[in-house]
Amino acid sequence: MSIDLKQLFEVVGDVYNIDYQLDLSDYELFGSKPFFKPVHVTGKIENKAGVVFLNMDADFSIRVECDRCLDEFERDYSYSFEHILVAELNTDNDEYIVVQNHVLDLDDLVLSDILLNLPSKLLCNEDCKGLCSKCGQNLNKGSCDCNDSLVDPRLAILGELLK
Ligand SMILES: [Zn+2]
Ligand SMILES: [Zn+2]
Repeated sequence: MSIDLKQLFEVVGDVYNIDYQLDLSDYELFGSKPFFKPVHVTGKIENKAGVVFLNMDADFSIRVECDRCLDEFERDYSYSFEHILVAELNTDNDEYIVVQNHVLDLDDLVLSDILLNLPSKLLCNEDCKGLCSKCGQNLNKGSCDCNDSLVDPRLAILGELLK
């Protein structure tokens, strides 16, 4: 979605309300297309005393493979973003979003905000036990017979010392 902000940049107190669904179902990430539902974006753009603020919330769900056990899982996220929009960049502050020709591409901004905030490793569960390195058994679903021989060698030495 593109928003023409020419008037908003000029009129102090002007407000633009955001409430839309962003379809990212074709976007590839982590080797799949995780955005199986549209991203719901709400918020507003407001000219406060000549400074243009963008505040928005992005609510979305992703479906991805766990980095550790490779099981597919879904997770909901709710992120809030705040930016200051400027018509041209005359400082080195890259926190500002430059709006070329007063037209903001909100889809691009929402997507890059989401990508910057998503964790780089996604686990089905903080305590995910992963896969057995020997037989490939998903250890969240049950143990395998290799377990006994998988004792950390350093712990084994400690065990000997404590005897
Ligand atoms: Zn997992
Ligand atoms: Zn095993």
